[in-house]
Amino acid sequence: MITYSGRTSAARIEDTTAILSADPDLTLDEIVATSNERFLDGEHVPLADVTLLAPLQPKKNVFCVGRNYLAHAEEITRARGIALDLPDVPTFFTKAPTTVVAHNTVVHMDATLSQMYDWEAELAVVIGKRCRDIAESDALDAVFGYCCMNDISARDLQQKHLQWFKGKSLDESGPLGPWIVTADELGDPQQLQIVCRINGVVKQDASTAHMIFPVARVIAELSQGLTLEPGDIIATGTPEGVGFARNPPEFFRNGDTVEVEIERIGVLKNTISLTETKGI
Ligand code: MG
Repeated sequence: MITYSGRTSAARIEDTTAILSADPDLTLDEIVATSNERFLDGEHVPLADVTLLAPLQPKKNVFCVGRNYLAHAEEITRARGIALDLPDVPTFFTKAPTTVVAHNTVVHMDATLSQMYDWEAELAVVIGKRCRDIAESDALDAVFGYCCMNDISARDLQQKHLQWFKGKSLDESGPLGPWIVTADELGDPQQLQIVCRINGVVKQDASTAHMIFPVARVIAELSQGLTLEPGDIIATGTPEGVGFARNPPEFFRNGDTVEVEIERIGVLKNTISLTETKGI
């Protein structure tokens, strides 16, 4: 599913061309209900000719999982000089809907607010079915598709405010895209290589096989007593290699390019603008 120029369509990506559904301008609910056969005969759109938007703008906060890869949990304990104490359930937090921005955009971060903006490459899950109290064995049936997300984090604010929400919810800190690959096309979400590059240099390179709580468990736990709805997004945690845990620590600098690449999905690329950005 792609969104561009205010238009959302089911599509199949072939090299540099998006082949749209024969029924463009569908809502997410309609796309979820669309069979693959209806994709085949639509308009052919060269991707170079369009500006992709975020594949969807969530109506509610993006659900996120903290510390969902063991090697990332370990690098945090090393960096902070604390003992490794893993929870037996996922650690959930959220990012405000205003964090979500598209592929190929400039992400504006206020240099006067934080100097510790950090990257987190993540597999994002898009829910396709309304569900609650779903069993882990059924949870992947509720998934519409998957995309890349960058859970950009202001580490000093994340620490200062105790709850992570503030440091995780600054405007534009949630690049999402470049499109949504449907669950049937993607296959097993636990067999994907996930990479983050800064200015072309690999910083994170891991497999989703190393998630502590796999996607199905995350959905099952989150849905206990909480209704998930079509269009809800869940960011499933980042692997090792984030900036603050490096020695010496690294953070975004003005003009950096950041790419999140996930096997079978694609590349989500953004440029960081680290300047004074007061007001709207
Ligand atoms: Mg994260």
